[in-house]
Order: sequence, then structure tokens, then C-alpha cells
Amino acid sequence: MNKTNDYILTIVVPIYNEEDNMSALEERLSTYLKKALTSTCVLFVNDGSKDSSLVKIKEICQRQKDFFYCSLERNGGLSAAMKAGIDATYSRFVGYIDADLQTDPEDFNLLLPYVREYPLVMGIRANRKDSFFKNLQSKVANGFRRMMTHDGSTDTGCPLKIMHTDYAKRVPFFTGMHRFLPALIALQPGGRMKEIPVRHFPRVAGVSKYHLWNRLIAPFIDCFAYRWMKKRYINYQVAESNLRDEK
Ligand code: UDP
Ligand code: MG
Repeated sequence: MNKTNDYILTIVVPIYNEEDNMSALEERLSTYLKKALTSTCVLFVNDGSKDSSLVKIKEICQRQKDFFYCSLERNGGLSAAMKAGIDATYSRFVGYIDADLQTDPEDFNLLLPYVREYPLVMGIRANRKDSFFKNLQSKVANGFRRMMTHDGSTDTGCPLKIMHTDYAKRVPFFTGMHRFLPALIALQPGGRMKEIPVRHFPRVAGVSKYHLWNRLIAPFIDCFAYRWMKKRYINYQVAESNLRDEK
């Protein structure tokens, strides 16, 4: 157990070279914590940043009492950072938002009313504020993924999600899995998903780390891996056991 156990929701924020976003991030997240519909903390995951992000993360965590961090030895990509965050979360629910604040933490309050009923509640970016080319890539990738996975998700990459932590911890993790969360949660019994429209903003500082190759080609191949995994996924139900201590 760790300190996240004292909260209902932990918001995981993956961070790779986002030094110019850190002060806005602190401001927006601390403002949100005061308005959050449930008791909430923030968990920064530094994914081997090469700039001053880690120094800034540590300063923020000293100033703000509900902010925690873990820092990875080397850069492993968004999926690795998410896994590290989920592994370190012991609150009932785990949220996810990007450090570039293209979605607003306040919109977690739009998702929260549905979290009891749905193991995954996620945003749909209404009026996406990305370039024409990026939106096009995203549309093509989403359409193909939907066809291959039947995940029923409109905007699987939306950086605003809340999951039941127990469901999130059982997701099979691999590089690139962050694009398949709805499909991966759906592998589990009761793994239902709800989508809610949320606001979307342009990236104002720092640079995007994803481009044509890692947004389109690798995820295309991953769709076939998902189909394989779906066929082979293990779901078992324990009928009885004497493992539980009844005291
Ligand atoms: N990120 C990360 N490790 C990486 C690449 C990105 O933790 O190797 C983080 C990044 O700091 C951001 C989020 O993942 O918080 C999404 O990255 P980005 O905004 O560059 O992706 P895009 O929105 O352009 O797809
Ligand atoms: Mg982004």
C-alpha cells in the first residue's frame, strides 16, 4: 500500500519532457482538487524526462499536499508510464490525463457520476483542436481499430479516463496498449465502457511526442495482436476455496 490508498481517485499524469507545462499543470490540478466530486490525489509519473520536469515535479509535490510522484529510470513510452502509475495506485479508482492539458481536469467531474456503474468512463474530444493532419490520422486509426476490435469506442486516445483500479491492474500491458484500453477492459467480465463528450484545447507548450509511424503503423499491427489476445484471453471464475481468513 502507499499514500494513494487514502483517496478514492488517483489521477495519473504521464510526463516526458514537459517542463514548460508544469506550472500550468500544478495550477489546474490543484484548482480541480478543491472542486473534485470525490477525494482525489495526483500521481505524476516521470517517464525518464531529459529536461527539468523531474525537478519541477519534486518542487510541486513539496508545495501541494495531495500530489505524489514516481520517476522511472528511463523513458519507456506512454503505455509504460501508465502501467507504472496504475501499478502504484491503491485508491478505488484511477484516472488519467496528459501533462499537456489538452483536456481539462475539471471535466473529471463529468465522468465521475458514471464510475460506479462502468469500469471505464472516458471522454470524447468534442471539437478537437489538433491539426488537420493529426485529426485525419486519428480518424483513420480509430475507424480501423473499431472495425478490428469492436471496442465501440469513438475516441480511444482521449486523454481523460477513469477506470476501476482492479480492472486497470488486470489489463494486459504492452507498448502501445494505451490506445486499446476500451478493448482491453472489454476482455474482462462486466468490462463495460461509457463515453462522455469533454472539452479539448490546443497544446500550448512543449511538443507532441507522437508522429505518423508511432500513431498509425505500429497501432495497425497491434490490432492483429489484440485479435489474437482476445481469442486466448483467460477468464476464470473461482467456484469455491478455503483461502479466505474469515476472522
Ligand atoms: N509521454 C510519456 N512518455 C513518452 C511520450 C509521451 O510519458 O515517451 C506523455 C507526455 O508527456 C504526455 C502524454 O504522454 O503527457 C501524451 O503525449 P503527447 O501529448 O506528446 O501525445 P499526443 O497528444 O500528441 O498524441
Ligand atoms: Mg497531447
